[in-house]
Amino acid sequence: MHHPDVCIAGAGIIGLSLALELHHRGVRVTVLDQATPLAEASTAAAGMLAARDPHNPPQLRPLAELSLSLYPDFLDRLHILSGMRVPFQTLATLQAIPPNVPNTSGELTLKDLAHLRPALNPGDHRFILLDEYSLDPRQLATALLAAVRTTTIDLRPNTKVLYTRPVDNSVEVSTPAGIIHAANFVDCTGAWASTTSHLPNIRVTPKKGQMLSVSLPPSFALKLVVRTPDIYIVPRTSGPNSSRAIIGATIEDAGFDKTVHSADIAHLSTLAAALLPPLAHAPQLEAWAGLRPATSDGLPLLGALPTHPNHFLATGHYRDGILLAPATAHVMTQLLSGEAPSIDLEPFSPTRTRITP
Ligand SMILES: Cc1cc2nc3c(=O)[nH]c(=O)nc-3n(C[C@H](O)[C@H](O)[C@H](O)COP(=O)(O)OP(=O)(O)OC[C@H]3O[C@@H](n4cnc5c(N)ncnc54)[C@H](O)[C@@H]3O)c2cc1C
Repeated sequence: MHHPDVCIAGAGIIGLSLALELHHRGVRVTVLDQATPLAEASTAAAGMLAARDPHNPPQLRPLAELSLSLYPDFLDRLHILSGMRVPFQTLATLQAIPPNVPNTSGELTLKDLAHLRPALNPGDHRFILLDEYSLDPRQLATALLAAVRTTTIDLRPNTKVLYTRPVDNSVEVSTPAGIIHAANFVDCTGAWASTTSHLPNIRVTPKKGQMLSVSLPPSFALKLVVRTPDIYIVPRTSGPNSSRAIIGATIEDAGFDKTVHSADIAHLSTLAAALLPPLAHAPQLEAWAGLRPATSDGLPLLGALPTHPNHFLATGHYRDGILLAPATAHVMTQLLSGEAPSIDLEPFSPTRTRITP
């Protein structure tokens, strides 16, 4: 029989970042994953820390800004624990302005764009240059897992949470390997959260994203992210995947299916080459799919269930879970410690009913 202070379901970036933060505060943590840690959405992602993407819901901004501010310390802690330094891969994003936005300060003229390297075919798009970072989620995952393994966090792969039930002032967590009694339970199962927690108002559903990576031609040293509503191109500039670019991504309702379709990958390639012509003959390296945890209003679920005050959720991070991991770990640790969170978590309440389009 195990009695951790906190039992976390799901060893993605959200579950493991939270485990590290709790451990740092002296909390005894067990993390259960139904399969392999960090093998789902968290390593399928492109790695943009897109806090100021004009397409994000505005209610996300305070959480996103908090997370950006915490990122350097988060990466430092991973470095100290794992010995691995996760660098930022890019420091700027060329972002297409939504068509309905009239005159945006910072909008780039065609003359500006001509001076930007690499060659860009803007088509009908207008662009701004955002001060935005990206990193390689695979590098992050390697360092995060190594960091967790240096601690006393009890990480158990291949241990599925079958169900949970409140017992007195704790939670009984049932797994095929037996029952765990934890003072608190946190559901970090990403796209699977509606199968592990009974969510009264807002469901979490998987949104499939297919992506590919290509080898950048040696003459084409892409150093920034280029993003329109239809396509993004994210170069890796250092580390084991340098000289490649990630091209993504589809957004599909396909349940838990992760099949990669060559026609969809070819379509992404065509869109990327139309925007950045030097990519037209870039050799494809890999193609994959991941499942974003989506909620009906595009905002995460952070907080306790009204009926079960020891059963928390930290999920529904949709397209921004890599960005939002440090802030999620921070505010969830505050909630679990009975402290007032650094930002207002009302927009992320699991009991909210308002559906924002
Ligand atoms: C194609 C694509 C591109 C993306 N690009 C970006 C990006 O550029 N920037 C960004 O910030 N975000 C991006 N994202 C979003 C980001 O990847 C996710 O929001 C984030 O990874 C969610 O992390 P998570 O830990 O909640 O989920 P996951 O990484 O999916 O982890 C959930 C874990 O829960 C486990 N689990 C499920 N059910 C159970 C159970 N019953 N018991 C135990 N364990 C269970 C699973 O095995 C899994 O390991 C992208 C996502 C995709 C798919």
